[in-house]
Amino acid sequence: MKISDLLKKDTLSISFEVFPPKTETLFESVKSATEEIAKLRPAFMSVTYGAGGGTSQYTLDIAKNIKDRYGVPSLAHLTCVSSTRETVRERICDIKKAGIQNIMALRGDVPAHLQNADRSGWDYRYAIELVRDIKECDESFCIGGACYPEIHPESADQKTDIAHLKEKVDAGCDFLTTQMFFDNNLLYNFLYKIRQAGITVPVIPGIMPITNANQVARAISLSGSFVPQRFKSLVDRFGSDPAAMKQAGIAYATDQIIDLYANGITNVHVYSMNKPDVAASIQRNLSDILGK
Ligand code: FAD
Repeated sequence: MKISDLLKKDTLSISFEVFPPKTETLFESVKSATEEIAKLRPAFMSVTYGAGGGTSQYTLDIAKNIKDRYGVPSLAHLTCVSSTRETVRERICDIKKAGIQNIMALRGDVPAHLQNADRSGWDYRYAIELVRDIKECDESFCIGGACYPEIHPESADQKTDIAHLKEKVDAGCDFLTTQMFFDNNLLYNFLYKIRQAGITVPVIPGIMPITNANQVARAISLSGSFVPQRFKSLVDRFGSDPAAMKQAGIAYATDQIIDLYANGITNVHVYSMNKPDVAASIQRNLSDILGK
């Protein structure tokens, strides 16, 4: 099932993101967590791709398992930076052979251990080149791209970032998924600007439920997201009580989703971080709205 077809519904749909294990030892526990999330029957599930591609086989195995065993459409992430065109093409063929119709086409970031590596064999600079390669391999893939309501950290300004985004979409993205954000007004403002710039594909907001205080610093340093005072107060009040922090973080994410839907956004992607209990709580909080 193509994600572009799922996005046509006008009622609320929730999808979840999971990540692959870093080592084989962890494979079974990660697989079982992703299966618990699949049992919630989300609209689709995305499986991330480890930086540098070292865990690419696990991304594929998890994405295939979710689709084949639970009938949940899967979206396999793929990055291209620090890769050769030949390797990337092999990965695209593997995704096709696994019967997965959706690819999230990403540039990725150069992993720390390759920062000083010889880059002469690296064939990609930006995600747009990967989008073009996927299209060339098979026109029928449904392709997603990443976007940044608060600007990609390497961009000089939002206008330039949006101009590059438009080129990426024009190269063949069927939809976009956003970086996490904690203030919905940032998303509404971004949507207004990209629509003005002529980007018309569906945009799926990415919501990260912050369920423990340590995660706050990590998530924010990775994403550079603005943290509203309302969210800071919540961490100040509940950060030292793990159960209360978890409940408050889930409530905050639920509230963001309700506001998005009330403002006309029907598809929301939740960064569920392989936590079936968090995914289930969010779904339960929205049960009447989702009709589940
Ligand atoms: P691009 O679209 O290539 O953009 C990167 C930067 O280059 C931007 O600043 C853009 O404005 C600029 N740019 C683009 N084209 C040009 C051009 N022609 N000339 C000059 N500048 C240009 N990382 C992983 O390793 N694995 C994952 O699974 C993963 N999943 C993600 C999912 C989502 C929803 C998001 C938002 C991010 C994800 N990331 C993942 C992180 C992502 O790889 C990084 O944010 C990376 O830095 C940028 O990737 P991109 O695909 O957005 O790159």
